[in-house]
Amino acid sequence: MHGRLEHAFSLSASIGMICPICGSPYVRQEQSLVCQKGHTVNGNRKGYFNFLSRPAPDTYGKPLFEARQRVFHAGLYDGVMSAVFDEIQNGESVLDVGCGEGTYLHALADRGHNGKLAGVDISRQGIEIASTGEALFCVADMRHLPFAVHSFDTILNILSPADYSEFQRVLKPSGKVIKVIPGPDYLKEVREARHLKGGDSQADARLKEKMHIHKTRHVYEVKAIDAGLWPDILQMTPLNQDLTQEQFRDMAKTPARTLTIDLMILTAFPG
Ligand SMILES: [Zn+2]
Repeated sequence: MHGRLEHAFSLSASIGMICPICGSPYVRQEQSLVCQKGHTVNGNRKGYFNFLSRPAPDTYGKPLFEARQRVFHAGLYDGVMSAVFDEIQNGESVLDVGCGEGTYLHALADRGHNGKLAGVDISRQGIEIASTGEALFCVADMRHLPFAVHSFDTILNILSPADYSEFQRVLKPSGKVIKVIPGPDYLKEVREARHLKGGDSQADARLKEKMHIHKTRHVYEVKAIDAGLWPDILQMTPLNQDLTQEQFRDMAKTPARTLTIDLMILTAFPG
């Protein structure tokens, strides 16, 4: 049963992948991609490629990504998603850097998007969940993306670190970055439950240094939430990864009634 892996090989050939170690193109040899200097990446039969020579520490485990999927399916991010998708034309090739469990790419494919789709994340756990559909998924370091120059029309970078020089390399000259960063009230109910202060994100300042911000859109929504979803909300965010199981259970007992989604969607061009 190698259907998924065959699909991943055919996507990798159409997208044009390069070795992140030496930059030379890959050719397929049986179930592997091999570059001109002999660096080899084995295809995983679940349908993805892992370009990391050693695994990244598993700060974000499978439960985080699964919780995130359930929160997305409950519709809490529908407003953000449609604001992001408004910036993407049908037919564009899209790379999601920090794609995690792949929700945005799956949703884009479900909308009938007919451009090439690829997602990378440093977490193998996220990519294993992601690699079920139309997009090519890779475990890779965003500072050394396994793609040739000028491969993509759009890079999505959603609540995730960025490497703008590397983004510019793989973007077409007319390409754009759609970056989502948290506003001050993002998930404030979760922070209040932990008595944490607001985050002080410098993400847009770094983006401004490297790129020209063409458009900023603010999504601010206070969503009513089902009590049953609260444990997933606690679980889905990196904020709570330091909690012990006991602390987590205590927090889960007193669900918030609302959740604040406060996110900025920035569309930016290189230069
Ligand atoms: Zn190589």
